Amino acid sequence: MTADAVDVCVVGSGASGSTVAHEIARNGFRVLVLEEGRRLPPGASLATVQSSMDDALVRSPPGGLMPFGRPWTVSALGGGMTLYAGIAFRYRTVDFDARAHVAADALDPVWPIDYAELRPYYEELERRMGVARLAGADPLEPPSDPAVLPPHQYSPQGRLIANAGGRIGRLPFPTPLAINSVPYGGRPACHCCGPCNEHLCLTGARADARSPFIDVPLPPGALTVALGSKAVRIDLGNVSRADSVEWLDTDSRQRARVRARCVVLAGNAIQSAALLLRSAQPAAPNGIGNGAGMVGSGISFKISGYVSGSTALDRLPVQPLGGPFSTVAISDHYLDEEAPSGLGGLIYEASPTERAVHEGKITLRLHFLAADQPMRNNAVRLANTRDRLGLPNIILEYWTHPVDKRRLGYLSRRASDLLLEAGVKKVDYQDSNYQFGSGHLHGGCRAGIDPKESVVDRWGRVHDIDNLYVADGGFFPYSGGVNPTFTIQANALRIARRIVTQLA
Ligand SMILES: Cc1cc2nc3c(=O)[nH]c(=O)nc-3n(C[C@H](O)[C@H](O)[C@H](O)COP(=O)(O)OP(=O)(O)OC[C@H]3O[C@@H](n4cnc5c(N)ncnc54)[C@H](O)[C@@H]3O)c2cc1C
Repeated sequence: MTADAVDVCVVGSGASGSTVAHEIARNGFRVLVLEEGRRLPPGASLATVQSSMDDALVRSPPGGLMPFGRPWTVSALGGGMTLYAGIAFRYRTVDFDARAHVAADALDPVWPIDYAELRPYYEELERRMGVARLAGADPLEPPSDPAVLPPHQYSPQGRLIANAGGRIGRLPFPTPLAINSVPYGGRPACHCCGPCNEHLCLTGARADARSPFIDVPLPPGALTVALGSKAVRIDLGNVSRADSVEWLDTDSRQRARVRARCVVLAGNAIQSAALLLRSAQPAAPNGIGNGAGMVGSGISFKISGYVSGSTALDRLPVQPLGGPFSTVAISDHYLDEEAPSGLGGLIYEASPTERAVHEGKITLRLHFLAADQPMRNNAVRLANTRDRLGLPNIILEYWTHPVDKRRLGYLSRRASDLLLEAGVKKVDYQDSNYQFGSGHLHGGCRAGIDPKESVVDRWGRVHDIDNLYVADGGFFPYSGGVNPTFTIQANALRIARRIVTQLA
């Protein structure tokens, strides 16, 4: 086993890992990124890559454990942003402090930072990668600098949804997208050529995890990315310092070790918690950072579902039917007194891959999603059984809180109202199966002030470990009600800046 040394070892190359690694490397430190996945081949889609990612165990209704869980967004160079839909909301004020809306038995949802602290990082990333949006159109949008890119036009489906929303008193607005509406940042404008969500972008119009850093020069040799390299254990040098990361070559099954002055976990909310739990050792018998039993706890996937149905077109579309997965959204039911707990969520166009016009009719599809209650017993745990690499399997314990079931029903009805108004005669409901793990992974290494109720501090640093950080969605003490990636990137940039000051 070799033992190279670097300044920083980053585990994971997705939204958070890529941000942290580039920011630290450009400041002249030597960074090694361990990424267990590989570069996706041309034409890859979620359907083609899913079988290569290990399942997690989840509870089946009689109580047994079944391998139906999804503990990944995408395991690949670039993580989930390789196949994501590009939806790029900023978190709203209420997402940082939802105390007025959570159940009495929920964990404390308050973030140790607020929107004002995160705002400069959103602005910087937005300038670097481009977000197409209509400033001021979303009634709940937090204050921001002017948009750098104009919004995308509504798709033919989006236009029908927006018109219907307007007729029933909603305030539809263009979905903010990290997809170029005009050429920007060396990337072309989207020409609506493909199926978008769950697929590689054919043109590069959609941002990926590297896009914000594409023009940022790195000192020679500062950044190394090791693909097919799974971090399996962190070793502590003493009770308060991480010393090295052990990793496994997923092809040869050879193990190696890298020593690092600082270790940053960016493997996604589930995988980072699992790595801390798998790193049990005499100085941390229940896993690193787990003295209070909080590692893995408070995992949240967001509650969500879809409604769809077909409607007659009032005129034949002049625009192509491919292109962004979502062009219109409404946030009227986000802070909604009629929603159980007063907090609903977001509803947006989620057009299906198959978008052809059949006999003058087109399918409209809406996704509705909302924050779930952060619950102590919704947790990542380790099983006694082993996965194909010989590591303890991940168990996802997750139950939907009764309040959230009612909130989901409320949002489903509001989304159906929109479809009915758009002329859909029969609305079909489609489960998202979020309870088995979704693309939106948060919690598990919750940030907070109290080390008994959280795993990391406001900088993402594991309490009592001087040089170990969590930069992915695991940080989120409350999942928030909009798509999380832009916030994961902004928070990762904030954490990276802190690490740079600590290393200097
Ligand atoms: C189909 C799809 C569409 C989506 N659309 C949107 C959207 O429109 N908007 C939005 O905001 N979000 C979207 N998401 C969610 C988005 O992908 C995630 O929020 C985001 O990628 C999370 O970033 P992350 O850095 O936490 O983790 P990831 O991007 O998941 O990256 C983690 C990386 O770490 C690697 N890794 C994990 N453990 C280890 C280990 N032990 N050793 C080495 N490597 C490891 C993984 O292989 C992976 O590549 C979508 C997700 C999916 C799947």
